[in-house]
Amino acid sequence: MTAHWLEETVEEISKRNLTEFTFSTGKTPSGHVHIGILREIIICDALKRIFEKRGAKVLFYLFMDDFDAAKRFPDYIDTKYQENYLGKPFALIPCPFEDCGCESYARHFGNELISTFENFGIKNKIIWTYDLYQKREMQEKIRIALENTDKIKEILKKYIYPTLDNDRKQLFIDMQKTWIPAMVICDECNKIQYKATDGTIQPNRVIKYLNEEREVLYECPGCGYKGKNSIYSGKLKLNWRVDWPAKWALFNATCEPAGKDHSVKGGAYDTGIEICQKVYDYEGPIKLPYEWLRLGNKDMKTSKGIVFTPKQYMELADPEIYRMLILRTNPMKHISLRMEEIPQYQDYYEKMENIFYGVEEPESKEEYDFYKYLYPLTKVINVPEIKPIRIPLKLLTFLSQMQNILSLDKLYEKVISSLKVNNNEKTISIDEFKVLLKRTEKWIKEIKNELTKITDHKIKRNIQNKIEIFTIPKTIDKKLINNLSDDQINGLKKFREYLADNDDLDADSIQNKIFTIAKKELEIPPRKLFEAFYLVLLGSKSGPRLGPFIQMLDKTWLMDRLNQLL
Ligand SMILES: [Zn+2]
Ligand SMILES: [Zn+2]
Repeated sequence: MTAHWLEETVEEISKRNLTEFTFSTGKTPSGHVHIGILREIIICDALKRIFEKRGAKVLFYLFMDDFDAAKRFPDYIDTKYQENYLGKPFALIPCPFEDCGCESYARHFGNELISTFENFGIKNKIIWTYDLYQKREMQEKIRIALENTDKIKEILKKYIYPTLDNDRKQLFIDMQKTWIPAMVICDECNKIQYKATDGTIQPNRVIKYLNEEREVLYECPGCGYKGKNSIYSGKLKLNWRVDWPAKWALFNATCEPAGKDHSVKGGAYDTGIEICQKVYDYEGPIKLPYEWLRLGNKDMKTSKGIVFTPKQYMELADPEIYRMLILRTNPMKHISLRMEEIPQYQDYYEKMENIFYGVEEPESKEEYDFYKYLYPLTKVINVPEIKPIRIPLKLLTFLSQMQNILSLDKLYEKVISSLKVNNNEKTISIDEFKVLLKRTEKWIKEIKNELTKITDHKIKRNIQNKIEIFTIPKTIDKKLINNLSDDQINGLKKFREYLADNDDLDADSIQNKIFTIAKKELEIPPRKLFEAFYLVLLGSKSGPRLGPFIQMLDKTWLMDRLNQLL
């Protein structure tokens, strides 16, 4: 038994006896890129860290596949714009947003993703595929493919043909008769692919390769233009089943994860490995298949605009929590990212952290080994010498919902005193606190927004209670006060007197006092008095546990609120 699932891949990679390792990942920047892509990137980032720690040289690439043609656009792209640019490579489509100033459609969305890497602790090098195809070394890979068309066809047939039904088998045979593994950007219309009115995609495929001249002939399915181009023109691109192994061979990829669509039998990974070996004379990378990351119960899709981006995540939660989620989960299991479960993720993280720093006892040796392995890989920068300070998420959640009644200084005071109670020697600056407060505020807003979409009341209430969502209205609703009974008003007044006479009350004393007032002094069901408190403080009949809630409120504010009942 290994300490962590990553060790199996590490062992397999180690068997190759290399001194230099290359990890690669890829993405087509067809729109806002969703956070799922970070699964393969973070897995590779972890592998990189592991091999670097052993003193090896590690290269880590993200291929940004901007030579891919726009097959479709997400809904948020203007329709007129879509018509103009359909079928062109993303690198040659201008940024769709006015006055943005970036180089292309691909750069706009690609850079949006790349700009988040530092926050997620990812250190990789970006290769823009379109630029790569302008280079001689990649163009040589095109030449090799064109010279080995028959061999490539045979390999593709071997893997794909058995997976097809009878009708498709015939189509496949017919298609292969004229098939050549490269396509060209049309000199006339700049498209590399044409989407016919029936929806079928027709690549502007090379129809003849002139070996001696190193030129290709094509007939554009979009505009009908017949052209001739040098294979060194930078206008040729390999078919994607060949493009992948060509890049593996060029960069000596040691390992590349692959989403489940590419990992299936007869998929691009399998054909890629054989093409890599038989055409490009390189053994190819170790295949590391992984399952999708879903957002709740939804599949995300960049090209369809169903996305939750790394940038959006970062604004709501801690990137280390995300790294933990990815790296604790076996890649063959799917992950459902649920923002309402951030508190549970956080609990897990803190437990791991406590065990790592020896503050908490692990349940078993396995658990200890697992956390010891995992924790450093989740860190964005480095592993601190002593356990980092943490403001409990519960407290942050609470304080962020009190911002309309308490000043930042007052909120900060609360945090500092709570840290002191827990005997923390280190403290946190007001600026750091402000950042955390803002992030928590946005997260709660997101949860509230999600709650409006949930129709099942039980699920809704469950989330509300777990996260302790509430709103404190600035003023008390007069109508609500008029509906309070004399006993309820009396109870609130009695509590106000108790409050005036006592400082620094703890949560239990408050909770007990309210009980005593109701049961002993007024002889009413305590529930009635609790309800009165919630109505006066929150304007609703229920809320978070009253003792801790009142304890956290500012005394001056609370006295003032209760005085309004007079
Ligand atoms: Zn832009
Ligand atoms: Zn054309």
